[in-house]
Amino acid sequence: MAETAAPGPARVLLAAPRGYCAGVDRAVQTVERALDLHGAPVYVRKEIVHNKHVVQELSKRGAIFVEEETEVPEGEMVVFSAHGVSPAVHAAASSRRLHTIDATCPLVTKVHVEARRFAADGYTIVMIGHEGHEEVEGTTGEAPDSIVLVQTAEEVEGLEVRDPNRVAFITQTTLSVDETAEIIAALRAKFPAIVSPKSDDICYATTNRQIAVKQLARECELVLVIGSTNSSNSNRLVEVAREHGSASHLIDNHTQVREEWLEGVETVGITSGASAPEELVEQLVELFRKRGASDVSELRTVDEDVRFMLPKEIREQLAVGT
Ligand code: SF4
Repeated sequence: MAETAAPGPARVLLAAPRGYCAGVDRAVQTVERALDLHGAPVYVRKEIVHNKHVVQELSKRGAIFVEEETEVPEGEMVVFSAHGVSPAVHAAASSRRLHTIDATCPLVTKVHVEARRFAADGYTIVMIGHEGHEEVEGTTGEAPDSIVLVQTAEEVEGLEVRDPNRVAFITQTTLSVDETAEIIAALRAKFPAIVSPKSDDICYATTNRQIAVKQLARECELVLVIGSTNSSNSNRLVEVAREHGSASHLIDNHTQVREEWLEGVETVGITSGASAPEELVEQLVELFRKRGASDVSELRTVDEDVRFMLPKEIREQLAVGT
């Protein structure tokens, strides 16, 4: 869209919280620090976080993104992404003598630990998640013989397990809170003895961004979500906004806004997925300011103060350098 196009919405409302979560912040910083400490190249298995802009910026600094650890030359450094990897990937990296830095989000690691524990205790584990998502692949790899994947409440009906009295469930961290509650209700109806994790697997950032976008959708005719198409939590934000009364679209950045979306829109809402940098939000706000928006404010629903320490491999090297 041309930045000098016809006037746009008079009001811009920003969801808060939005954008980077503690796990993404840690993962991106991990690659940046690895580049500072070792120089280029630093290999990264898969996109460090699901955001095109972040991947492009890190590539410019010398990160090389690969699909599999087998593409990394023997003995080189590789960072594992925030979505986590299976034990088989760790083993393959070790057999290639790779120097690994694990940027798996601690909240994904929590789900891996649950999977191992439930499997060791003899449970069939129902994993609620999206087939093919890296996080699901990594978690499933912890106990491939014990985990079955379920994507919808309808799928629960046909689910066959070894012992209906020994079933547990875990979930991907970035799902729709409401849809997952429906699937869990269907699981509890089918397997009354089903065991749950001690605390929710859907992470605080996913939950809080969905709470914020629900409120935003009630006040706007249009909600724009900044995030990449492969970002699970960003896609969920679009769905939640639509379910709560607003039109909504996922965009990588301000250049993807379409003129026809703005017709009749007085208030446009903006939020961003957990892997989308704030500068992309700022550029979008700037676009609307140039088109005449005079009222730009934030709609805060939840305060966040979660921070994670950098991976120990980076902390140890930083300590040596001080
Ligand atoms: S979205 Fe949640 S699980 Fe994923 S990296 Fe962020 S905090 Fe961790």
